[in-house]
Amino acid sequence: MQNTLYQNQQYTLKGVEDQINILTGILDQRQWKLRFPAALEKSYLDLRNRRFLEIERNILIAGLLFYLAFSWPDFYLGGEQGLLIFILRLLITAGGLLAIAWVPKSAFYDYMVILAAVGVFVAGLSVLVFIALIPDELKYAYHLGLIPIQVFIMVALRLSYRSVLSVSLALFLLYLLAHPLMTHEVNDPSLSRLIDIFIPLFTLFWFLMILMGGYIAFMTETAARNDFLKNKLLALEAQRLQFLTDRLHHMSTTDGLTGIANRRCFERQLDTEWRRCLRNKMPLALVMIDIDRFKDFNDHYGHLSGDDCLIRLAQLMASFCKRPGDLCARYGGEEFVILLAETDENDAVTLLEQIRNSVAELNIPHEKSPYGRVTISAGIAASVPDDGRTAESLLGDADRRLYRAKAAGRNQICCV
Ligand code: GH3
Ligand code: MG
Ligand code: MG
Repeated sequence: MQNTLYQNQQYTLKGVEDQINILTGILDQRQWKLRFPAALEKSYLDLRNRRFLEIERNILIAGLLFYLAFSWPDFYLGGEQGLLIFILRLLITAGGLLAIAWVPKSAFYDYMVILAAVGVFVAGLSVLVFIALIPDELKYAYHLGLIPIQVFIMVALRLSYRSVLSVSLALFLLYLLAHPLMTHEVNDPSLSRLIDIFIPLFTLFWFLMILMGGYIAFMTETAARNDFLKNKLLALEAQRLQFLTDRLHHMSTTDGLTGIANRRCFERQLDTEWRRCLRNKMPLALVMIDIDRFKDFNDHYGHLSGDDCLIRLAQLMASFCKRPGDLCARYGGEEFVILLAETDENDAVTLLEQIRNSVAELNIPHEKSPYGRVTISAGIAASVPDDGRTAESLLGDADRRLYRAKAAGRNQICCV
């Protein structure tokens, strides 16, 4: 039983250490692809989605309201198309707000960031459509609207460099492809010259922003992923430390052969319970138990059978100590000790009779014993602790009574 427990502990620690090795390996590599192995990636995406709900969702709401606030130039600059542009803007804002409210509660929860990227793309696309719809040179005023959209893409989708780059580049390419729709013949020669300079400059400026945005998003995502790994590592290290502390505690308080408490654990608990019973003026009982003629048992059946017998008896006796203050410990060799807090002599004798009978009922053959089976003897000492006595003196009494029980023929309990 001890062995199985130990092997299980080894196994658990191995699992934690394997994970630590995997995470350290990933941290050591340069992660150009920014993608973890599947299970880890899922856990990272879960965290990112939670962060998205806390931060980026609010940015999206604010962005949509700003987008709507820009309705007022639609009527000034949109001409005949002003109303249509305003209605489109209104529909996109309403759709976006509805999606923000609904998606986190829907089956699309895992795809929140991708859907947000699609939403931002639609808003950007709408600006291209507005430019195309405006029939005169006033459309150039709307070109500037693409800059806040680009900034917004970088801020709202900043935790995923793929989204930032794909939405930005898609919009940029569409802008280039739809060039004839984005421009308008201008009659005024000085305005025409200005626009000739303005458009290439604007395009270059936008492209630089995309490069910068992509780089910043990449670095931000790398840092977020590294933080995620380091936090996970920290949690695993804490788990490993807790595990080792528990094992150390277990080893220092448990008897290696029988699995019950050892003498050190007993002495600590005796000290605690003695002081508690002293404060509460409650009785405390100590029992020293010794297996009868155990040397003969070993000599006759062998040491391994002796060990087996010790384990069975220890487990049986410990099963009788159920209350929080009770403890059964291996005191040394084939001697055991039982601590019974808030228990007087009568109750201790009753319990010990049950234990002695149960040991005999195990019917472990012992040819060299007059009883023909393995038996125990016990000495009991109980008293209400007072300042004039020590726990050691009570233990001494129990020990003396144990030898009286031995002298009186063994397989019995002595309490005087
Ligand atoms: P008594 O009835 O007077 O107690 O006789 P006894 O033979 O039990 O007394 P003694 O103290 O002389 O013998 C204790 C024996 O317990 C001696 C030792 O071989 C055995 N023993 C102590 N620790 C272990 C152990 O871990 N495993 C085994 N198999 N035997 C042990
Ligand atoms: Mg002994
Ligand atoms: Mg003995």
